[in-house]
Amino acid sequence: MSEAAAYSVRDGIAVITMNNPPVNGLGSVLRPGIMDGIKKAGADPAVKALVLIGSAKAFSGGADIREFNTPKMSVLPSLPEINDAQDGCPKPMVAAIGGFALGGGLELALGCHYRVAAPKAQLGLPEVKLGLLPGSGGTQRLPRVVGAAQAVLMMTTGNPVPAEKALGLGLVDEVVAGDLLEGALSFARKLIKEGKGPRRIRDMTVKVEGDSKAFFEKARAEVGKASRGYPAPLEIVACVEAAVAKPFDEGRKEERQRFASLVEGKESKALRHMFFAERQTSKIPDVPEDTPTRPVKSAAVIGAGTMGGGIAMNFANAGIPVSMMDVTQEAVDKGLKKIKDNYASTVSKGRLKQEEMDKRISLIKTTTKLDDAKDADIVIEAVFERMDVKQDMFRKLDSVMKPGAILATNTSTLDVNEIANVTKRPQDVIGTHFFSPANVMRLLEVVRGAKTAKDVLATTMKLGKTIKKVAVVSGVCDGFIGNRMVEKYGQQSLFLLDEGCSPQQVDAAAYKWGMAMGPLAMGDMAGLDIGWEIRKRRYVERPNFVYSKVGDKIAELGRYGQKTGKGWYRYDLPNRTPIPDPEVEDIIKKYRTENNIKTRAISNEEIVERLIYALVNEAAYILEEGIALRASDIDMVYLTGYGFPPYRGGPMFYADTVGLKNVLNSIQRFQSGYQGAVWKPAPLLLKLANEGRKFNE
Ligand code: NAD
Repeated sequence: MSEAAAYSVRDGIAVITMNNPPVNGLGSVLRPGIMDGIKKAGADPAVKALVLIGSAKAFSGGADIREFNTPKMSVLPSLPEINDAQDGCPKPMVAAIGGFALGGGLELALGCHYRVAAPKAQLGLPEVKLGLLPGSGGTQRLPRVVGAAQAVLMMTTGNPVPAEKALGLGLVDEVVAGDLLEGALSFARKLIKEGKGPRRIRDMTVKVEGDSKAFFEKARAEVGKASRGYPAPLEIVACVEAAVAKPFDEGRKEERQRFASLVEGKESKALRHMFFAERQTSKIPDVPEDTPTRPVKSAAVIGAGTMGGGIAMNFANAGIPVSMMDVTQEAVDKGLKKIKDNYASTVSKGRLKQEEMDKRISLIKTTTKLDDAKDADIVIEAVFERMDVKQDMFRKLDSVMKPGAILATNTSTLDVNEIANVTKRPQDVIGTHFFSPANVMRLLEVVRGAKTAKDVLATTMKLGKTIKKVAVVSGVCDGFIGNRMVEKYGQQSLFLLDEGCSPQQVDAAAYKWGMAMGPLAMGDMAGLDIGWEIRKRRYVERPNFVYSKVGDKIAELGRYGQKTGKGWYRYDLPNRTPIPDPEVEDIIKKYRTENNIKTRAISNEEIVERLIYALVNEAAYILEEGIALRASDIDMVYLTGYGFPPYRGGPMFYADTVGLKNVLNSIQRFQSGYQGAVWKPAPLLLKLANEGRKFNE
C-alpha cells in the first residue's frame, strides 16, 4: 500500500485514508493508493463497506498542481479509471469530507455512493476558473445529484457550497458534527444493517425544472451574457444538457471531448498562466523564502485621505490594530466616516456581519499626533504626492518610530530612494503602492529601494499575503511597473483622438477586446486632474515626453471626470454611466484644426493594437531594466490592478500568443504613422522577436 493512501479495516469496514499534504492533491503517488484500496476492499469477503477519507483540512483539492505539465500527470490510474472502479465496486462506498472537496476532489467524492461531511466542509467544482470544465464525470454526476439548475450554477461560477447547503441539495447525505471518521463509520454501519448497497450516481436521472428545452435556452442566454469572452461556462451548460438528454457514458464522452478542446484553447492557457503567475510573484531570487521576517502586529497609516482610509481598512480586515493620523481632527473624522460608510454598505449588502464591522472599526484608532504612531511595527505614509512633503514626513518618522519599524510610502510616482535617503535608516524604507480603492483592489506593488533590507522586503511581501493582496516586487522608477506602462497606453489613447477617433470609439474597442473599461472612461474614474498634474510636472522634468495636449484642453475646463460630472464624457450623477458629450467632440475638433492634424478612419483592430502594444513595449523595457523580476509579474500587475482580461493572460502573455515578431512588425509600422517617433521598439523585444522567443518562457 502506498504511504499516500493508508488502508485499514475496522469492524468489516475498509478505511482508505488519503495522506498527500498539503491538500491531498490527486497526484501520481495518491491515485494508485486509492485504486489499490478500492480493489482490495472489493475482493475481501470480510469487508462489507468502504470509507474514503482525507485530512481534517482537506478531503482533496483535486489535481496536484505540482505535477502540472509533467509526465506524472499521466501516471495510471487516471481519475476517470478510479471513478470507474468506484462505480464497479460491489460494496457501498462512503466519502467522508472534511475541509474541502474541490475539482477532482469532488469528482472523487461523487464517484463514492454516499457522502458525509464535516460542518465546515466546502464542496465545489472550480475548474471554470481555469477556463476548463470538470473532466472526470463531474458535469455528468453533479446534475444527477443536485438537479440541472444548481449544477449549472455551481459549475459556471466555480463557487463552492458549504456542508449544510450541500445537505439541502442532496450532495451530502449527512453532516457529521463530531469526529468525522467515527461519523462516517457509523453511517456505513447503518448502510450495512439496512442492507443498502452501492448507489451509483450514474444510474440516476437529472431533474430539470419545467421544460428542458426552455431551461437550457434560458441558461445559455444567462451564462453567455455573464461569461463575455470565456468559452468554458457555455461548454459546461452543453455538458449538463448532455447529462439530461443522453445516457451516462455518452454524456461522459461528450464531456471528455469538450474538456480536450478547452485545454487546448487560448483562454484556458491564459488562465492557467495567470494561476501560476500568481504563485510566482512571491519568489525573489536573492531573498529566499526562509528569509527571517519582522513581526507585524500593529500598523499606522499617515494621511486619512482616499488611500489612507482604504489602507487602514486592509489592516483592520486582517485583525491588525492600526492608527490613522492626519493633520486636523476634521480630516481624521472625515476619513473615519468614509471607512464606516464603506463597511456599512457591505453590511447592508449582507456580505459582512454587523459584529464583524464593529470589531474591525474598533481596531482603527484615529489621531492627529504623529507620536501615536511610534510603536507600530509598520507605518505607511499616504500624504500628498509631493517630494518635499514626503521627505519632511520621513524625517519626522525617522525621529519618532521605534527602531526596527518598517517605514513605507504609498507614493505612486516619486523616487523611493530619495525618500529613504533623508532618513538614517534607509534599509527600513520600502514602497507599498496600493491601488484605488485600496480596500478592494488586489494589487500591491512592493517597491524595493536601493538600500531596502532583505528582511524588510520579505516582511512586506508576507504582509501583502496577510492582507490578501497580490504583492508584486517592483524596482524604483517613475510609475513603477503598472503606471509607467499605463502612461504609454494613455498617450496612445489621446493620439487616437487627435487622429480622428471619438472617446467612445476608443473605449468601445478596448472594452470589446476585453478590458474592464476603456482608457478614457478609466481617466474619468481616476480623475483627469491627476493625469494633468503629472503631465504638468513632466513638461518640466521630461520635456521630450510627447503628449497630445487635447487632455489638457479638457482638464483646463474643470472637467475632471466623474467627480465633477464631466470629463471625457458627461454623467448624470450619482449615475456613473458615461454619456457621450457633443461638447467634448467640439473641443477635440477644435484642437485638431488648431494643430493641423489630418484625420482618418481608424479600425478597432488598430486601436487595440496601439493601446496594448504600447503597454507591451514599455513592459519590455521594464523587464530588461530589472524593474520587474519576470514577465509573469507584469501580467499579474495588469490583471489585478488594471482590469486586463484574465482570459488574455496579461500583456506579456498576450504578446507571446500573438507572436513577438508580429508585435514588432506592428510597432515598426506605427513608427511611420502619427507621432511615430514615440514608438521605439525595446531592445529586449527586438532580440526575442528575432530569436523567435517569448517573454514568458
Ligand atoms: P488625499 O489627498 O486623498 O489624502 C492625503 C491626505 O494626507 C489628506 O487627508 C491630507 O490632510 C493628509 N496629509 C497631508 N500632509 C500631511 C501631513 N504632513 N501629516 C498627516 N497627514 C497629511 O490623497 P490620496 O489620493 O489618498 O493619495 C495619497 C498618496 O497615495 C499619494 O502619494 C498618492 O500619489 C498615492 N496614491 C494615490 C492613489 C489614488 O488613486 N488616489 C493611488 C495610489 C497611490
